Amino acid sequence: MSARGKGEARLDDSYDVIVVGGGLAGLVAAAELGDRGKKTLIVDQEGEQFLGGQAFWSLGGLFMVDTPEQRRMRIKDSLELARIDWMGSAQFDREEDHWPRQWAEAYLDFAAGEMRPWLSGMGMRWFPVVGWAERGGAFATGHGNSVPRFHITWGTGPGVLKPFIDRVRAHEAAGRIRFAFRHRVTAIDKKAGRIAGISGDILAPTSVARGERSNRDVAGEFSFRAENIIVTSGGIGGNLELVRKAWPRDRLGSPPGHMISGVPFHVDGKMIGIAREAGAATINEDRMWHYTEGVKNWAPIWPEHGIRILPGPSSMWFDAKGNRLPPPCLPGFDTLSTLRYLRGTGHDHSWFILTQKVIEKEFALSGSEQNPDFTSGKWKEVLKQRLGKGATDAVEAFKRHGEDFIVRDTLDELVAAMNALAGEKLLDPAHIRAQIEARDAQIDNPYSKDAQVTAIHGARAYLGDKLVRTAKPHKFLDPANGPLIAVRLHIITRKTLGGLHTNLDSQALGADGQPIDGLYAAGEAAGFGGGGYHGYNALEGTFLGGCIFSGRAAGRAAG
Ligand SMILES: Cc1cc2nc3c(=O)[nH]c(=O)nc-3n(C[C@H](O)[C@H](O)[C@H](O)COP(=O)(O)OP(=O)(O)OC[C@H]3O[C@@H](n4cnc5c(N)ncnc54)[C@H](O)[C@@H]3O)c2cc1C
Repeated sequence: MSARGKGEARLDDSYDVIVVGGGLAGLVAAAELGDRGKKTLIVDQEGEQFLGGQAFWSLGGLFMVDTPEQRRMRIKDSLELARIDWMGSAQFDREEDHWPRQWAEAYLDFAAGEMRPWLSGMGMRWFPVVGWAERGGAFATGHGNSVPRFHITWGTGPGVLKPFIDRVRAHEAAGRIRFAFRHRVTAIDKKAGRIAGISGDILAPTSVARGERSNRDVAGEFSFRAENIIVTSGGIGGNLELVRKAWPRDRLGSPPGHMISGVPFHVDGKMIGIAREAGAATINEDRMWHYTEGVKNWAPIWPEHGIRILPGPSSMWFDAKGNRLPPPCLPGFDTLSTLRYLRGTGHDHSWFILTQKVIEKEFALSGSEQNPDFTSGKWKEVLKQRLGKGATDAVEAFKRHGEDFIVRDTLDELVAAMNALAGEKLLDPAHIRAQIEARDAQIDNPYSKDAQVTAIHGARAYLGDKLVRTAKPHKFLDPANGPLIAVRLHIITRKTLGGLHTNLDSQALGADGQPIDGLYAAGEAAGFGGGGYHGYNALEGTFLGGCIFSGRAAGRAAG
C-alpha cells in the first residue's frame, strides 16, 4: 500500500529500476538508466533542494592520470606509475579484497583512458594547475601520489553534478525518470526470495536550506515495486556513533572523544544496514578516511560542521603537548599515518604553527562554498582570490571569526593564547621556540637535513606548487614574515572506504559471494566500488571519481 503526500500522486507504483539516493552515484546511474529507456524512480530522504548529496559540497577534485592538464604542467604520469601508487596505498591484504582490487584496476584504466574525454564531452573542464594531494612521504612502494593528479573541476562540486543533473532532468521531462523526495527507505522488499521493491516512511516537508539538518517527522508510509534496486545512499561519516563503532582500534587507536563532521546529517549510513538485512554483504567496514586538519566552521550549516584545511607543505605541525610530528606526518602527505600518530598522543587536537606568508599561499579549504571563485567558474574571480593580496576571502574569514585560529605578533603571545584556547597549559613556550629556531636554521641553504624543509624544496620543483601552492622557504621567527598564526586542528570525519560488496557490474553480493539478482550498489555505499576499492588509503579525487565510475556501471547493468 502506498500512502503519498500531496504532489506525489503522479508517482506510479511500479518501475524497472529504483535508485535509493540522489547523490552523485545515484544521478550517474539514473542518467545511464534513462539513456537505456528504463523507467526509473530516484528516492531520497531529503528534499529536492538537497539534490546531488555530498558532491554539491565537494571541491570537485578528480583523480585522473596522464591528462593534458598534467602534461601542460610538465608532469610525467602514466598508468603504470598510478598503479604502483594505488597498490602501494591500498595495501590490499584480505581475501575479500578480490573485487575491490578488480575495481581498483578497472578505475585506473578508466582514469588513464576514457574518463577525461567522456566527462569533457559532457562539458566538464578543469583548473589548469593540477593539485598534489597525499604525497606519501615514505618509500616509492608505499602510500601516496608520486605526482600531482587532483584535477579541480571548474564549478567545483556543482560543476561535477551539472552534466548528470541535466541528463536526469531531460529524462524526467521525457517521463522516463521520476523523483520521490522526502521518502526514507526502511526496507528492501522481497517476494518469493527475489527483490520486489522498497518501502519506508514519507517524511514531513522541509524548507531548510540545502545541507541543514531537516526534520525526521513521519507523515506517512510508502512502497514501490521494482525488480531492480540500486543502493547509492552514501557512507556513514555523518553518523559519529557508527564511525566510533566501526573505528579500527587495532590500527588507529581509540576513536577520538571529540570529532567534528565533514559531511551533512543525511550521511547517516542506515541504508547500508537495510541492504544487509536484504542479504547484501558488507566488507572492510573498518576502513575509513578521516582527516586530521579539521577546523570548526564559524558559520556552520550541518551539525558539528567542520571544514578541512587542504594545507600546503610548510606549516609546522605540533601535537597537543607541543612536540613536532615526525615524517611522514607532514601537512598533506599521509592522512592515516598522521591520524594513527595523533591517536597515540592521548589528545584529540593538534596544532599548526605558520606565518602570514604561509597562510596566503598555502591555505586552501575544502568545499564548494569555501571556494566561491572556483565554484563560479570565472577566471577573473580565481585570479583575484589566488594571486591577489592576502589569503582567499574564505581563509581570511576563518582567521577573523574561526574559534580555532590565533594570530599574534610574537611567539610568546601566540603560545600563551594557544594554552588559553586549549584550557590547559600543555605547551611550553621554550620547547616550541627551540623547535622553530632549529627549523629556521635550516632555511639558509637550498638543501636541508629537516625532512619537512626538504619536502618544501621538493614541492617547489613542481611548477604548480611554486606558482600557487608552496610559499618560498622563509624563517618563521623573522617578524617580516609575520604575524604568526596558530590553528587548532580537530579530527574531522569524511569518507567510508568499505561498504557493500559488489562485482564489476555493481551487483551486490551475498554472504556466499554470489550476486543477488536485482540488487546493485554504487558510490560511497559500495566503498566506491567492490566494497572498498581504496583498500586502506586513498589518493584523493577518487571518491567523486569512484561515484561516477561505479554509478555508471550500475546504471548500465541494472534492469
Ligand atoms: C566538503 C566535501 C568535500 C569533498 N571533496 C571531494 C573532492 O574534492 N573529491 C572527491 O573525490 N571527493 C570529495 N568529497 C567526497 C564526495 O563528495 C562523496 O564521497 C560523494 O559525493 C558521495 O556520493 P554518493 O552519491 O555515494 O552519496 P551521497 O552524496 O551521500 O548521497 C546519498 C543520498 O542518499 C540519500 N539517502 C541515504 N539514506 C537514505 C534512505 N534510507 N532513504 C532514502 N534516501 C537515502 C541521502 O539523503 C543522500 O542524498 C567531498 C565531500 C565533502 C562533504
